[in-house]
Amino acid sequence: MRVAVPKHITDDNVRLAVVSKLSWIKKQQQVFKDQVRQSERRYVSGECHYFFGKRCRLELIELEAKPEIKLLRSGKLKMCVRPGATVETKEKLLNVWYREELKKIILSYSKNGSPLWARRIKDWGIKKMKTKWGSCNIEQRRIWLNLELAKKPPECLEYILVHELVHLLERNHNHQFIEWMDQFLPNWRISKQTLNTSPLANEDWIY
Ligand SMILES: [Zn+2]
Repeated sequence: MRVAVPKHITDDNVRLAVVSKLSWIKKQQQVFKDQVRQSERRYVSGECHYFFGKRCRLELIELEAKPEIKLLRSGKLKMCVRPGATVETKEKLLNVWYREELKKIILSYSKNGSPLWARRIKDWGIKKMKTKWGSCNIEQRRIWLNLELAKKPPECLEYILVHELVHLLERNHNHQFIEWMDQFLPNWRISKQTLNTSPLANEDWIY
């Protein structure tokens, strides 16, 4: 952890500040864990799954055909699997689908999005992360986005995306960083709030 301190603050005070900050950081990590914690998913009809902030009810169909997932106009998530497919198979199928949908949005952002994207980034990817929504490797100009973002409202994805891209301009969360954020995404504070308060990734919610 790096700490920036004004000159007139004593070491003891710095230590105190860091210690109190540590408990805050631990609490934040717990909040994050709680938010992405997955309760046991069974992948049965009626189960609720989130897709870009909307709760969709699963409709499970077993048939001898290529497994696929479709989001119906009604908001139902139709999952076709082969008869007897395991929970793991269904979970994998859903994660592949989440990843594809997330990719589509990121690609459209990279085409229509901010000039940040075009000039700075070399590569990006999506992966499962346990404690972060996104990360940025400044030297390699590569960003990673958490697969879980496919479950959150789209403005949350945009917020994380812009946040990581701004790191290509400024490493630290300082004044300059916030200025860039304000410039590229004036509503970022609201989106951040949405991300931190959006419902748990999964709830047992079956009709
Ligand atoms: Zn950051």
